[in-house]
Amino acid sequence: MRGLRKRYGAALAVDDLTFTVPPGRVTGFVGPNGAGKSTTLRLILGLDRPDGGTALVGGRPYRSLRRPITHLGAMLDASAVHPSRKASDHLLWMAHAAGLKKARVAEVLEQVGLSSVGRRAVGGYSLGMRQRLGIAAALLGDPPMLIFDEPVNGLDPDGVRWIRILLRSLAAEGRAVLVSSHLMSELEDTADHLVVIGRGRLIADTDVRSLLAAA
Ligand code: ADP
Ligand code: ADP
Repeated sequence: MRGLRKRYGAALAVDDLTFTVPPGRVTGFVGPNGAGKSTTLRLILGLDRPDGGTALVGGRPYRSLRRPITHLGAMLDASAVHPSRKASDHLLWMAHAAGLKKARVAEVLEQVGLSSVGRRAVGGYSLGMRQRLGIAAALLGDPPMLIFDEPVNGLDPDGVRWIRILLRSLAAEGRAVLVSSHLMSELEDTADHLVVIGRGRLIADTDVRSLLAAA
């Protein structure tokens, strides 16, 4: 993100934001509700146009990528899948719609621990299982960068622990992982690096270890 800016009416939701999400690390994106996190993520994903600055994915704007899901996977919220649809059919459809030659359905179901229930209708899934399906969809294109918007919202402690382990392992594979939260405490055990924003502006961009050492 370089000098990223987004205005809604008179108010600046994102105000001159510059930061980098490096590979091989979990970058926590923290700020109170209304700070501008979702707006920033929407700008990265090309779902909205910035009023200034640029958001680049591997050096290019998201909208210019030919097969975006092979560059960036995003779990924004539990996606609305028809309840009668099987998870595996949903993923197969997504892979084809995204223009992937090879649908890695079995692999991503395995990665999120849904192999044994992948052929069941999504209507019978718990919230935690739906979150995992959303993550499986984000992993379909084997992207080098992943975005998770408030991924632990509504999860029980086991689900939270599972997400933490998954994020760490995705970073250990060399991926750039960006995870947002309105709670610093949710990220201090998970993130290597924290980008803190408030009222659309950068407040801190810091290594978690040095932050904790200074506290
Ligand atoms: P966060 O994700 O950190 O909670 P948001 O990015 O959702 O913050 O919101 C940042 C600011 O922009 C808030 O003041 C919010 O009310 C405003 N905002 C977000 N989206 C819109 C929109 N579509 N229209 C008008 N204002 C918006
Ligand atoms: P919640 O998020 O609502 O707490 P969970 O996703 O943790 O729910 O699980 C709800 C139920 O689904 C539990 O009984 C759990 O054992 C079962 N379940 C979750 N994931 C799987 C899986 N991969 N295979 C089989 N059963 C599962």
